[in-house]
Amino acid sequence: MIAPSIDPLSNKNKGLSQRYIEEVLQKYGINHDKPIITQISRFDYLKDPVGVIEALLQVKKYNDCQLILAGGTATDDPESGQVLEEVRNKANGHPDIHILTIPPGSDLEINALQRASNIIVQKSLKEGFGLTVSEALWKAKPVVASAVGGIPLQISHKYSGLLCHSIEGAAFSIKQLLNSPEYAQKLGENGREHIRQNFLLTRHLRDYMLVFLSLYNSNDIVYL
Ligand code: UDP
Repeated sequence: MIAPSIDPLSNKNKGLSQRYIEEVLQKYGINHDKPIITQISRFDYLKDPVGVIEALLQVKKYNDCQLILAGGTATDDPESGQVLEEVRNKANGHPDIHILTIPPGSDLEINALQRASNIIVQKSLKEGFGLTVSEALWKAKPVVASAVGGIPLQISHKYSGLLCHSIEGAAFSIKQLLNSPEYAQKLGENGREHIRQNFLLTRHLRDYMLVFLSLYNSNDIVYL
């Protein structure tokens, strides 16, 4: 199996100036006055955005913080409008819950929102690989994510992030990170190194070379 990878030089992942990050926050009316917890995802039931709001509301009983749920509404996904409506109902106009619909192709803005965040969440119920986790870890962000699909390949629990299995588990982990900034920073740093070694584009090159080499060694004829 060849796992996906991210391009560290793309608009989604390259370094950004603090000024640009502030501009994007300002554009979406977000003040950096309290910690930002973010989930970047299509508005899809399997990404459990309503569960993320429930977790945030549990956390807010103990820690002041704000939530960004940012995602596009894909025209080829008929359910996304319905999910977005449920998300808005659940948020019920809460001033610390920012629901952003981001137009397609806004990679720099997604990058800025990830970089502006104190914690990234990916509370999926099911997942393929979960590219948003690699993107967040590459930015050295502490991540709380469900132990589904390819996410455990990216996060070793308590080493390069925190894995969760429920809304309560997600809330517990978010609180823990908010209360232990040094621990959160260490998880982010370990996460970045894990992504550097395993999930950057350069690893893909190595994988393809190994595939070609194994075909060559097996005496199969390869037409390119
Ligand atoms: N993404 C984006 N804009 C959005 C929501 C997601 O650009 O509004 C990007 C996100 O940064 C990631 C990809 O879309 O690169 C989603 O990949 P992932 O594997 O996390 O989930 P999928 O949508 O493929 O289930």
